[in-house]
Amino acid sequence: SLKSVFLGVGSNLGVRRETLRAAVEKLREDPAVRVGRISSVYATKPVGVAEQPDFLNLVVEIATTHSPLELLAVTQRIEHALGRVRQERWGARTIDLDVLWYEGTRSEDATLTLPHPRAKERSFVLTPWAEIAPELKLDGETVSARAKQVGAGGVVRVSAWERDSGAP
Ligand code: ADP
Ligand code: MG
Repeated sequence: SLKSVFLGVGSNLGVRRETLRAAVEKLREDPAVRVGRISSVYATKPVGVAEQPDFLNLVVEIATTHSPLELLAVTQRIEHALGRVRQERWGARTIDLDVLWYEGTRSEDATLTLPHPRAKERSFVLTPWAEIAPELKLDGETVSARAKQVGAGGVVRVSAWERDSGAP
């Protein structure tokens, strides 16, 4: 059946915005995935080591007929495809795709923990997520309330998805 899912997408190496765009495009190419709302793009100032480029992050809503584990495989295939293409030029970690929440599924399995265990602590996830799903409940607390609690902490909105990403 068709399930609602939220994915977190991040990139801090290479042409980051292009990587985000390519990741969303690959999701669109999957016939079992329908892309829904997409948050603005946010930059996260690196804490500590200043040599690192900022992370760019967004959250995307999809509807999918993939099971949770099938979807994890899909996201890992996308990570692999984008990582490999960019690796020669820009290095290892270009893309991170996390399954934040999958409708009706909780899991303590280390292979796929749902909801994503660290999402609730990360302002670079909560801030974009609250933009597109403020009322979604995480353990009885809305994404919006959780985002306010954790605070914006170095996460700044860069641009709307449509404006700078070349998305249709
Ligand atoms: P992180 O996203 O925490 O920075 P990685 O992207 O390297 O770390 O993911 C490491 C592992 O996390 C993956 O091999 C995957 O099986 C596991 N994992 C567990 N739960 C999830 C989830 N909800 N979404 C994505 N990966 C997950
Ligand atoms: Mg990950």
